[in-house]
Amino acid sequence: MTILDGKKVSDDIKDEIAAAVAVMKERGERIPHLAAVLVGNDGASLTYVGSKVRACERVGFRSTLIRLPNTTSEIELLKEIDELNKDEDIDGFIVQLPLPKQIDTQKVLMAIDPDKDVDGFHPTNFGKMALDMTTFIPATPFGIIELLERYNVETKGKHTVVIGRSHIVGRPMSILMGRRGFPGNSTVTLTHSHTKNISQITTQADIIITALGVPGFLKAEMVKDDVVVIDVGITRVPDETRKRGYYITGDVDFENVSKKSTYITPVPGGVGPMTIAMLLKNTLLACEWRRQTT
Ligand code: NAP
Repeated sequence: MTILDGKKVSDDIKDEIAAAVAVMKERGERIPHLAAVLVGNDGASLTYVGSKVRACERVGFRSTLIRLPNTTSEIELLKEIDELNKDEDIDGFIVQLPLPKQIDTQKVLMAIDPDKDVDGFHPTNFGKMALDMTTFIPATPFGIIELLERYNVETKGKHTVVIGRSHIVGRPMSILMGRRGFPGNSTVTLTHSHTKNISQITTQADIIITALGVPGFLKAEMVKDDVVVIDVGITRVPDETRKRGYYITGDVDFENVSKKSTYITPVPGGVGPMTIAMLLKNTLLACEWRRQTT
């Protein structure tokens, strides 16, 4: 059994990006600039945005954090997005989700200039991805693809089962695993909360990608021998004995499922760190693509 070490691979990717930035600096080129918009004070969102900003610093990018109060109206946020769209100094930006309930998330994501949409959530970019065109791939699916590629995990002709159909993980993952090329060329089954007899499906899977957010959902009796398991789930479980007051766990019963796996991602240290690395990669691409067209 091989652990797919997202921490190590994401560090390698950050080193590669830092090296690319050093070359850009030497040539006197513009350095990539990522902006992040955070509305409100949600604890997990603050942590995620903080990690993204620190990751930018580590690779030598410029970064800007725009913090808006929880009471921000949809119109105010759309105005902020319009300014970021027009700002020549910004290569890409993200709006941290979830947004407060007075704001329509879809409307906000639609307002982002697709050329600056480094999260890859805009319908234009999602459509391009589905059509195998060059574009921003959402960071978490992009990270999974990169992990499979760097560990040379065979996907061709395999049966991949994706659990969860969210727009940011499960659905794009199902598209990417079924596309032509490597990683890809899989036969994909996309499952969700209405799927009946899910164990019957997962026991036929060569590759299982869990993205549902239910701790320990995938158990050893639900998988066959030599399965590849990618655990996207991140759930904070309250735990008074820990300094932070919680611990992080995934969707997979790692201890038992790992015994039947050829490759498996741990939580933490698997897909999570890859997500930030691929956001940086998308920002680097945004900067390079802009330079090529201006
Ligand atoms: P989400 O929007 O929370 O949706 C969950 C999906 O799981 C839905 O499609 C739902 O089905 C399905 N589901 C729920 N219970 C199920 C069950 N018992 N059997 C089968 N399917 C079930 O998903 P998400 O935003 O993709 O997040 C999923 C998990 O990944 C969360 O733990 C999240 O924190 C984590 N995550 C991690 C990263 C990372 O960087 N590692 C990034 C994003 C998300 P329906 O559609 O029928 O409701």
